[in-house]
Amino acid sequence: MPGKRALSSSLGALTKRKKVINASSSSVATVKVENTENGNGLQLEQIQTSCGTNEFNGAFKESIDSPKVKIEVESESRPNIFPKIDPVDSVKGPPGWAQIYNEIVEMRSKFLAPVDSQGCESMPNTITPGLKHSDPKKYRFQLLISLMLSSQTKDEVNYEAMVRLDNGLRKSHSGGFCLEAMSQLSVSEIDSYICKVGFHNRKAQYIAKTCQILKSEFNGDIPNSIEDIVKLPGVGPKMGYLLLQAGWGINSGIGVDVHLHRLALLWRWVSTKATTPEKCRLELESWLPPKYWRDVNPLVVGFGQVICVPRASNCDICAIGRKGLCPGANKKLLKGPVSEERKIKLMKQRGDLTALINQYL
Ligand code: SF4
Repeated sequence: MPGKRALSSSLGALTKRKKVINASSSSVATVKVENTENGNGLQLEQIQTSCGTNEFNGAFKESIDSPKVKIEVESESRPNIFPKIDPVDSVKGPPGWAQIYNEIVEMRSKFLAPVDSQGCESMPNTITPGLKHSDPKKYRFQLLISLMLSSQTKDEVNYEAMVRLDNGLRKSHSGGFCLEAMSQLSVSEIDSYICKVGFHNRKAQYIAKTCQILKSEFNGDIPNSIEDIVKLPGVGPKMGYLLLQAGWGINSGIGVDVHLHRLALLWRWVSTKATTPEKCRLELESWLPPKYWRDVNPLVVGFGQVICVPRASNCDICAIGRKGLCPGANKKLLKGPVSEERKIKLMKQRGDLTALINQYL
């Protein structure tokens, strides 16, 4: 069912021909722009979603010059819209990989996972809607901090720590959650904000040190090369590539986290020699066309958070299992029958699986 959402009641004068519109979820259909001063309405010429980034990009047919602008989106109820694999791109790579990828795209269009709103890339925009475009430098800094907090920590816990930092720094500094404000905190103060994330003591030290380095060596911004990023304490290649993609729009590698690593091995997208995320990244990059490098992380991570969860995969509602594409499918679960207890368990996953439960059970 389509739904209507007002995105903003005052976005400032839209005097340019192109404007990026931020929204808090990634569904899209029709966007209407209305000048609330004189009632004139404008339609967008085109709308594209930038998958996983929760953005809409659209070009206006004409400009609108008013500080009072209302934007409404009549959206399809599709939580995620990731592009499928172009058939010409499926030739290279392990057998059947594109079919699996496309099934995940279908499934991900039916549920939201923690990564979609509380993953590192989305988090700064979830906390401060539109931050990526209103203040890209601050967005990059918050993205870096969320990535530094993310290792060995669930997105939900990481998000809570980021909200605590945001609330605290807004009170203590006029610039809010920015490098300047964070630089003024001692290690123990940083630690008190992030105390629920894994390895918080060490991460607090890394963050304090990183703030000094950013100020002294990078003019208060995040470096824009992987070589410089991985020199920051506590920052590895996975974080680095995601930071470059989301923070600078530079697509120079795949961010491989534990979910992508685990599932790439399961589906034989990589060989058994890919024993580390870094080895997995190199193997994936050897055949996956670069245009999918950015999507593959949030696509697969959300799937791994909600459907193919470690040690308790939900094969009975997984299209990959149902279609006989998965070498690791749990045959007992696929055979059924499905008990009420099982359905209750499925409803307790980290995302709303109603659509898939209705489809398969
Ligand atoms: S069939 Fe089961 S093991 Fe295979 S991808 Fe789906 S949930 Fe994971």
